[in-house]
Amino acid sequence: MRESFLPFARPTIGDDEIAEVVDTLRSGWLTSGPKVKRLEAAFAHYVGAEHAIAVNSCTAALHLALAALGVGVGDDVIVPTLTFCSTANVVIHLGARPRLVDVGRDFGIDPGAVEAAIRGARAERRRVKAVVPVHFAGQPCDLRAVQSIAQREGVFVVEDAAHAAGAEYHGRRIGTFGAATAFSFYTIKNMTTGEGGMVTTNDAGLAARVRRLSLHGMSTDAWRRYEGTGTWYYEVDEPGFKQNMTDIQAALGIHQLRRLDSFIAAREQRAEVYSAAFAATPELEIPVVQPDRKHAWHLYVLRLNLDRLELDRNSFVEAMRALNVGTSVHFIPVHLHPYYRRTFGYQPGDFPTAEHFYKQIVSLPLYPALDMQDVRYVADCVLQLVAGHRAPNPSWLAAGPAGAA
Ligand SMILES: *Cc1c(COP(=O)(O)O)cnc(C)c1O
Repeated sequence: MRESFLPFARPTIGDDEIAEVVDTLRSGWLTSGPKVKRLEAAFAHYVGAEHAIAVNSCTAALHLALAALGVGVGDDVIVPTLTFCSTANVVIHLGARPRLVDVGRDFGIDPGAVEAAIRGARAERRRVKAVVPVHFAGQPCDLRAVQSIAQREGVFVVEDAAHAAGAEYHGRRIGTFGAATAFSFYTIKNMTTGEGGMVTTNDAGLAARVRRLSLHGMSTDAWRRYEGTGTWYYEVDEPGFKQNMTDIQAALGIHQLRRLDSFIAAREQRAEVYSAAFAATPELEIPVVQPDRKHAWHLYVLRLNLDRLELDRNSFVEAMRALNVGTSVHFIPVHLHPYYRRTFGYQPGDFPTAEHFYKQIVSLPLYPALDMQDVRYVADCVLQLVAGHRAPNPSWLAAGPAGAA
């Protein structure tokens, strides 16, 4: 038994990050400025996109990308129900309606459900303007299928890549498949700026609008207004938002991005230890890695085979806590939240795959700062709980005690 609590997640911050933040603080320029420009250029280069716009969260990135694509009142936006609430909340902020759909066996948005949702909207004389697939846990969804449906139906794809910085689909980094891609640099994501996010796109017009909307709709940003050659003058073409990233955040991000590939490798190595430990245990289902994708391993989502266990997921989480291990659940399906039920009439039973997974899933600690001894401790705790709570063999029960027939 561990003496101290093992947190579910924690960031890895090194001396370079600290020195860069201090340098920013001493420089006198704290808000969006030279370091934001550096991070944007480096991130665009990393994902192979022509444009990157740094913002204050992935939620802001999704919001701005959809806003810049013209999503507004009267539009529908397709969102998988097995995601963080903000993927759907931003649609509501724009006055549009989230049309939730189920996920497939790979945890990604179900392309068949996307088609059905577009048909459903048409039957109600509503228009689907965009679809927001989520690259769940860091593994890209079936992008080819989603893109071909979207192209045929004239629907924009905006990727929620909150988990997927550094992930690849068919040999190409996530960041240029959809009209725009939204990344998260939240504290416990694969790379962090404390809070932060990024929009990437290959569309210059879209990039310019996202940038403008991120800072009040102003024609020039503060850095350009206040530097030596700048001008005080600006125009507001449309009322924008206040969602820009600061140079303090970007200072962190510049060094986190340099370490991203090594962070992912460390996560993958830990995930492999878990999967090897659990592979032969029929009470557990390990994550399935698709051969045509590079998983960024933001999360290790284990599934409990509840038919074979005498404890449910919630008791499992509690039992892990009692063993001093923090775990989490990704995610409570959006349609089960009170606001979404009340407002759109969603009910339990609407999305069977997501609900089935929701009952089974538990996310285990997975981060570079987790040492291998901790990984083994977590795996041992899981196996110990399983061994202590095996359900009686159902086929043996059905046959009855030997000789009873
Ligand atoms: C974390 C997360 C977000 C939101 O990211 P923020 O940067 O915190 O706004 C959006 N979608 C998913 C799937 C996430 O996990």
